[in-house]
Amino acid sequence: MNLLKIKPVWIIVKSKYYPIVPQLINLSVFVVLFIGSIGVGYESKIAPYIANTNLANQIVWNIWWPFTLVIVAIAGRLWCSVCPLELVNSLGSMIGLKKKAPRVLKSGWVITLLFAFILFGAGKYLGLQAVPRTLAIYLASIVSLSFILGLIYEKRSFCSYVCPLGSILGMYSYIAGTEWRADDTTIYKECKTKDCVAKRNRYKLVGHSCTSNINPASIPDNRECLLCTHCLKACPSTNFRFSLRLPFTDFFKNIKLTPAEMGILMLIIGFVNNNWHALVVFTLVPLLLCLLVSWKSLLPMLNAFMVLLIPTTAAAHMLHAFRGIIWNWPFYKLNFQDPLGVSTATMLAEKSLHIDHSKLEPAYRLLGTTTGLLYGAVFAVSVVIILKSPLTENINRTGKLLLILSMASYIASFYIKI
Ligand code: SF4
Ligand code: SF4
Repeated sequence: MNLLKIKPVWIIVKSKYYPIVPQLINLSVFVVLFIGSIGVGYESKIAPYIANTNLANQIVWNIWWPFTLVIVAIAGRLWCSVCPLELVNSLGSMIGLKKKAPRVLKSGWVITLLFAFILFGAGKYLGLQAVPRTLAIYLASIVSLSFILGLIYEKRSFCSYVCPLGSILGMYSYIAGTEWRADDTTIYKECKTKDCVAKRNRYKLVGHSCTSNINPASIPDNRECLLCTHCLKACPSTNFRFSLRLPFTDFFKNIKLTPAEMGILMLIIGFVNNNWHALVVFTLVPLLLCLLVSWKSLLPMLNAFMVLLIPTTAAAHMLHAFRGIIWNWPFYKLNFQDPLGVSTATMLAEKSLHIDHSKLEPAYRLLGTTTGLLYGAVFAVSVVIILKSPLTENINRTGKLLLILSMASYIASFYIKI
């Protein structure tokens, strides 16, 4: 089913105000979040509580983030279509030097290293999720960085070569039950102007040609498409569809992950599982075994193994984020009553206010059941991918059996933990 045939959807995607107006609104939300977190103190007395009592911190980590993960699994990179950083980056590139990105940026390792820094430098030592002021500095830094990179490099350099969120959402968007594609590929072949790829259209504010390093007429899978809708606006034949499809469809294509993307997956696994021993026991040891039995097809096995980790990792990431929502549920009302959260944190520190988590038991039970069902479903899908996808066509039967056992052990590592 083509969702663009639904009139309100069509009106939105064809509008010259979409996605720029939502992007501007989100940029102003960034400014409000910055104001709501930059001046918030972090004295030792309130330090254990401020992450939960500050509204900006809660919005970013315990409202926006979990829902972004759910949305990507349902509809692909919808967040990217309204992301303010894309707008800032694109505006920079319109007025900037338009240099070609150097090889080091294109390698993908900049994203992996930045993500590692966010998790372990900013996350662990600077308290990105715990100290509101660090969050404010982070928001200001990524907005500035996206603009500066836009000023130097052509197209969407920040989105394509620097943004860890884009890379994560790109991998998770393989799961989505929707796809943005050209409706009729013959129209593109016969088109004289090719406006959706033309260089002359690259820096139009509305309806520009694709700046995501893909050809909109032959999008292979969901990973690179930001759903920005500019190609549709550029196309004189409006030759695009946004269709429902079977979730996980992209896993039945020959997806190839780069070593840098494999590094990102490993970082997410370590972070979500929060247990590096589990990463070694349940992921690296099975991987070594798989590589040993299929040493003649080393690279296909490595690629298939890593791609197969994506559905489980996405499910674990989502459940991890929803655990955060449940834990923070009693704080949300207080967050809106005291947005900076200092008074609430002080009352909690002085024990004049008490948060009762005991009422959350039913929600945790529901999460437990959802976890079992979700991991069961993910395991079943992983087995079908192993048996049917071209990803594993060069892998022998023993290799496939080991892959199935590896996925079972990997899923068990999360299930036992949650
Ligand atoms: S890739 Fe990153 S910066 Fe670009 S639109 Fe997506 S989230 Fe925003
Ligand atoms: S293919 Fe179209 S919708 Fe996707 S990123 Fe390119 S211009 Fe945007």
